[in-house]
Amino acid sequence: MHAFSYKDGSLHCEEVDLAGLAAEHGTPLYVYSAGTIVDHFRRLDAALAGVDHEIAYAVKANSNLSVLRLLASEGAGFDIVSGGELFRVIKAGGDPAHCTFAGVGKTRDEIVYALEQGIYSFNVESEEELRYLDEVAGSLGLVAPAAVRVNPNVDAKTHKYISTGKSENKFGVDFERISALYERAAAELKNIRLRGLQMHIGSQLTSVDPFVEAVDKVAPLAAELKRLYGIEFWSIGGGIGIIYKESLESGSAEWWEGKEAAERPLTTDLYGSMLVPRLKDLGLRILLEPGRFIVGNAGVLLTRCLYEKKGSAKTFKIVDAGMNDLIRPALYEGHHEIVPVKQPASGARVTVDVVGPICESGDFFCQDRELDDFRPGETVALMSAGAYGFVMASNYNSRPLPAEILVEGDSATVVRKRQALDDLIAGEL
Ligand SMILES: *Cc1c(COP(=O)(O)O)cnc(C)c1O
Repeated sequence: MHAFSYKDGSLHCEEVDLAGLAAEHGTPLYVYSAGTIVDHFRRLDAALAGVDHEIAYAVKANSNLSVLRLLASEGAGFDIVSGGELFRVIKAGGDPAHCTFAGVGKTRDEIVYALEQGIYSFNVESEEELRYLDEVAGSLGLVAPAAVRVNPNVDAKTHKYISTGKSENKFGVDFERISALYERAAAELKNIRLRGLQMHIGSQLTSVDPFVEAVDKVAPLAAELKRLYGIEFWSIGGGIGIIYKESLESGSAEWWEGKEAAERPLTTDLYGSMLVPRLKDLGLRILLEPGRFIVGNAGVLLTRCLYEKKGSAKTFKIVDAGMNDLIRPALYEGHHEIVPVKQPASGARVTVDVVGPICESGDFFCQDRELDDFRPGETVALMSAGAYGFVMASNYNSRPLPAEILVEGDSATVVRKRQALDDLIAGEL
């Protein structure tokens, strides 16, 4: 569920009219609902109540300081993938002792920074990295807390670019090799404290089955590592999928209630009810690393229609947001619903491509899609843009980054200013 809906023909985020925000702050404009973010966090937290757990929000999904601050105040930990993300978490008041550090390519500087800040665990992706971590920690006279990421070789059945748990992916250590690696580490690496085990099989999983398969496969290993080396946590990763199609409708409780159980998207209740019984007797602290689930449906990207261009084969609606602002359609064939912020009186529908101003054919938000008609000058919302949206935005084509707004009830706060032209050349000589 989420807090975007029409009220009196105008799309609102919580109590705030989005057309008004677009008029005041310009477009393209990211708008997030604080209430939705908190609601998603609490739902997932409640669904895992039956087991000792911690939610380590995956910062890369949306790393705005105000989003991090909100989640820190809810008691979230953080899963980071760079020194820069750790810096953000600390700036937002997050506690490094509740941070896990993922990623296949940590640099020495990042390792030193994270060690000095006292993070909870390095989630290591290879033996080479573990040995390097040992060496760096030793050189500082420190002991590095670590978990190794196991690749369970489970098919997450998601887009190939966001599947991570198969043997052919670059992530983690093969399931068959992991026990021997812990054994060598325990025997040889004196500056490593084996604190946990980690896995993450992919992103945007819309069925609970791959999670169940992975947990069933890896649980005996987790139990064994606890017995042998006293590990204290098992991170089962993130990856809970969200609704992209019918995104607007899925904001309401009625929509969910109207779905048969079998066709209902993955819910926290289902996730919890399938996984908690499998996890609760392990005696391990269970970490979750959700990113998209927390913030994805909690954000939209507002964009204004500039032109309508009728070609011989197609009609294009050219908008002022481009793939540099939201790259998911170009990168992952991502789907975002496109809805006008003012409900059209006519009810007219059109089949169009909605495209941006960037000089790339991949710069589109939809192709041959039937939409409510909208005209040049009108604003539309690209739904479900809260995750992997702004964080992937770039200055390509020398376009300033859009502003970000956080809505709480009837108040809207600019949580990141729109870039000015001078920002584009800052740092250049
Ligand atoms: C990206 C990532 C996540 C978050 O994935 P979502 O699909 O956004 O929940 C969690 N853990 C790791 C290691 C990741 O790389």
